Amino acid sequence: MTLQHSAANPIEPAGGAMVDPFGRHITYLRVSVTDRCDFRCVYCMAENMTFLPKADLLTLEELDRLCSAFIAKGVRKLRITGGEPLVRKNIMWLFSALSRHLQNGDLDELTLTTNGSQLKRIAAGLVAAGVRRINVSLDTLDATRFRAITRWGDLAQVMDGIRAAQAAGLHIKINMVALKNTNEHEIEKMLHWCHGEGMDLTLIETMPLGDIEGDRTDQYLPLSAVRARLMDRLTLEDIPYRTGGPARYVRVRETGGRVGFITPLTHNFCESCNRVRVTCTGTLYMCLGQDDAADLRAPLRASASDDLLRAAIDEAISRKPKGHDFIIDRRGQKPALGRHMSMTGG
Ligand code: SAM
Repeated sequence: MTLQHSAANPIEPAGGAMVDPFGRHITYLRVSVTDRCDFRCVYCMAENMTFLPKADLLTLEELDRLCSAFIAKGVRKLRITGGEPLVRKNIMWLFSALSRHLQNGDLDELTLTTNGSQLKRIAAGLVAAGVRRINVSLDTLDATRFRAITRWGDLAQVMDGIRAAQAAGLHIKINMVALKNTNEHEIEKMLHWCHGEGMDLTLIETMPLGDIEGDRTDQYLPLSAVRARLMDRLTLEDIPYRTGGPARYVRVRETGGRVGFITPLTHNFCESCNRVRVTCTGTLYMCLGQDDAADLRAPLRASASDDLLRAAIDEAISRKPKGHDFIIDRRGQKPALGRHMSMTGG
């Protein structure tokens, strides 16, 4: 029998619950399985990135052990991300291994965020491993603009991937980063396309993460302006729908579909933050917008038992901050945080 779990009445998990100093239960883990990517999106990476030596990465077996320890400590939703998670060699081994937690009821959802480039090859395997919903990042439907934004990407390949995922039965949500002067005039078109395909759309503001060889204030487009523009032409109705994430959703009356808004530069989601992130080297970040972190690789490798790992997780959760410190500095051009999104996992 599957035990029912709710934030209001959590069942103490076998490994001890993770509750931070502000009473927030940590039930959502995002794990970056690689810092590498086959795209070089202009707001995410510099073109010439130096990636981690492979030896620094957790092995797939270590990632499985780490995720399983978090699940034993009450994680109910696990998102695999990157870099591009589907370019990690043998990544399907990890999905297959983790699917046991879905089968025995310890995990509610196993999901991923992907740029879609490898989906054609992998969609059916994901379904076999119990994945039901995925997020695909797609900032434009124009092939030339797609190449300009991703530097290396091929829109046709991503579209093939989306079709394959739909055919395999995966529910897709499209994530679109709203970029000033780049794709801002395409947002309504994207909305109609997504809703016509039965997919939700989430719009994301650019976050000041990592050096990208450019000025971020050039890219920053406040979603309040996007929303106001959409409201000139469409009827947006606030709805209570939540996915456990930071997005605030509206229903578009004309299409019947949903649009989410993620505005990370406001603090509107820190109070309900239920998540932590682990990088591919086993560094635990308690907040996307803060530098404080804990090394889990050393305790993981120090012994075959999970005791040290569990203790390190508990200690880190006791330091989870109340909220983030994002600012886009309009005088200097320094990112608010030195690390890229591809390292922490978007
Ligand atoms: N490669 C996968 C993908 O493309 O979805 C997963 C990793 S990617 C870093 C995750 C998400 O973060 C993508 O939707 C990407 O557009 C977004 N992202 C990357 N850098 C960002 C930034 N500085 N601000 C806002 N979103 C960002």
